[in-house]
Amino acid sequence: MILSKQKPWEEILGYLDGEKSVFLLGCNGCAQASGTGGPEQVTEMKDKLEAEGKKVTGSTVVDFLCEKALVKSRLRGKLEQVKVADSILVMTCGVGVQAVAASVNKVCHPACDTVNLGGSRGEWKGSERCMECGECLLEYTGGICPLTACTKGLISGQCGGASKGKCELNPEKDCGWELIYKRLKAKGQLDMLKKPIPPKNWDRMMPDVSVMATSHWALERTD
Ligand code: SF4
Ligand code: SF4
Repeated sequence: MILSKQKPWEEILGYLDGEKSVFLLGCNGCAQASGTGGPEQVTEMKDKLEAEGKKVTGSTVVDFLCEKALVKSRLRGKLEQVKVADSILVMTCGVGVQAVAASVNKVCHPACDTVNLGGSRGEWKGSERCMECGECLLEYTGGICPLTACTKGLISGQCGGASKGKCELNPEKDCGWELIYKRLKAKGQLDMLKKPIPPKNWDRMMPDVSVMATSHWALERTD
């Protein structure tokens, strides 16, 4: 289970600034259980966005947004609605947003932050990884997580050590920031690189006290 919470409303609206229309994508897996991206929340989001004058071109809720094959097959019947939208608002955890951003060549905005539960559950079988940082940055990086795709976890851009697209610390690995550059270019978002990513609140990498008060947390403790 990957726990998520919706980003502050002003932050979501800020992501959509300058856009007229959006397609909504929810998740019937962890996001539904978290109360952040199930059918109910997608309907609420549609109403709130329309009240702000945004056109919602369509929406769907996929069983597991972290499964790229599922995302592609479920969107097949919605291609026109996606095509006419300026962007997709993805209402799920960091792994799901990455999977959608990798599957559709469209600007994808994250609607949620992934909550830290004391470690990383976002180890996916593809290249999508999430460290549950509590403050999702995928808006700025074309949907590729800088914390997991970059060996040093740099959030402010490339270190300059990459060679032929490979990481200076691990030549077997693609440089995460080169991947981010290519993804932003493909989505027509290279301007994102001129926007400084806001300072990160690393405290959110720690589980919240409410999480540590649960019986689940107590059972998981080994010390
Ligand atoms: S920035 Fe990366 S680690 Fe943080 S929530 Fe998003 S995907 Fe997860
Ligand atoms: S070479 Fe690329 S992936 Fe490696 S540490 Fe530098 S920016 Fe990160």
